[in-house]
Amino acid sequence: MNKKDLRSLSLDELKNAAEDCGEKTYRGSQVYEWLHKRCADGLDEMTNVPKSFRNRISEDYELYDLEVIKVLRDEEDGTCKFLLKTVDDNVIESVLMKYEHGFSACISSQVGCRMGCSFCASTIGGRIRDLTAGEMAEQIYAMQKSENVRISNIVVMGTGEPFDNYDSFVRFYEIITGKEGQNISGRNITVSTCGIVEKIRELADRHFALTLAISLHAPYDELRKKIMPVANRYSIEEIMDACDYFFERTGRRVTFEYSLISEVNDSRECAERLAKLLKGKNSHVNLIPVNPVKERDYKRSGQENISAFKKLLEKNGINVTIRRGMGKNIDAACGQLRRSYIKGEL
Ligand code: SF4
Repeated sequence: MNKKDLRSLSLDELKNAAEDCGEKTYRGSQVYEWLHKRCADGLDEMTNVPKSFRNRISEDYELYDLEVIKVLRDEEDGTCKFLLKTVDDNVIESVLMKYEHGFSACISSQVGCRMGCSFCASTIGGRIRDLTAGEMAEQIYAMQKSENVRISNIVVMGTGEPFDNYDSFVRFYEIITGKEGQNISGRNITVSTCGIVEKIRELADRHFALTLAISLHAPYDELRKKIMPVANRYSIEEIMDACDYFFERTGRRVTFEYSLISEVNDSRECAERLAKLLKGKNSHVNLIPVNPVKERDYKRSGQENISAFKKLLEKNGINVTIRRGMGKNIDAACGQLRRSYIKGEL
């Protein structure tokens, strides 16, 4: 990684690069189209771009390609978990899910994560590095090519806290929604954060049409601090204010993710406090029966508790769904596959 990632450049930056090399700006557009529409793996493929320009580009840039090293398939629901190797030999994971309306991808934004959420395997080894915008896009391209499908929905909910790598996330969003590339609608993109308040506000000011999801997991600070260290930095009140601001600026309702952990946050009292917190807000709650993580002592809530929790929220007029468990027959929790690989268990 001595050079910068060519795939992370915006269209304008590539046009400028062309001009700097004494070429017409459309040469930059051609390279962009090769990278983001045709999902080229190398400059050699760009046969309509003059070799002299390609050579000049490669003096400063390289392609941070991802190599597919393992695909685990759940034959029951069609979910595929990908282990991908970066150019500096790190391993990340991405997931491809098949729904009635098409294919959805869950991608990572960092190698590892430093947020320390106690129910999450991705954070166990800490954060190794941020992924570039190009590497986020390349996860989509690599999965599309491997399975010969077209991805129409993206959730940035894999390993990493996207707002801890905010600039790359914004760049990725602009690339992946760009008309000259994949042209995926912003409405089909969800970004999930554990609640980095300043970045929620910054994102609101950009007026992107995406869905913001907050990993909440507890209805009051004391409990949230036990589950998520980030709660020591931002109170739930601050997060709610930032979410209200997001809604005001974008008109997009916010989703709250709530992992149900047996005897930790699945009591009637928790449901009541969550209902009180969200009452009257234009929001949506996604209840996630937690995936047990080998290294943690958490158990999934029983079906009865899950249903009771849901009913109580509904009674209070809150939109709520239970997340469909995808890929149950393969290591499903975020970060588990990568950990198994690193430990040599795969
Ligand atoms: S849940 Fe997300 S933010 Fe929390 S540790 Fe895992 S990857 Fe990081």
